[in-house]
Amino acid sequence: MSASHCRSCGAPIIWAETVNGRRMPLDEDPDPDGKFVLDETREPPLATFAPTDPGERFQSHFATCPDSDKHRRRP
Ligand SMILES: [Zn+2]
Repeated sequence: MSASHCRSCGAPIIWAETVNGRRMPLDEDPDPDGKFVLDETREPPLATFAPTDPGERFQSHFATCPDSDKHRRRP
């Protein structure tokens, strides 16, 4: 797995894919309040929305990025 960085704020992120096949950035560091579990045996890692699952969870970087407005703005 290669580390990436947010193009807006430079935070380390993991590019995962959702079950719908959409790419989604997750904060690299696990967050107990995160809403996603990550299957890192997949390539790209598969992010599943599982807010109540036990174990290591990750937060969407869309939710934590200080520049998240830029993510939503699409040309
Ligand atoms: Zn960011």
